[in-house]
Amino acid sequence: MIQNVVEFFRNLPKKQCIECGESIDEQHECYGNKCDGCMDPGKL
Ligand SMILES: [Zn+2]
Repeated sequence: MIQNVVEFFRNLPKKQCIECGESIDEQHECYGNKCDGCMDPGKL
């Protein structure tokens, strides 16, 4: 049964940045829908 849970998460679509389309690291989901580069305030 644990195997099914692993498969479930593995099949989830990767989150993508709405700005550049780059895949977002799961641990950054608190940032919303943008990747590190697009969220970096220093870049503006
Ligand atoms: Zn981006």
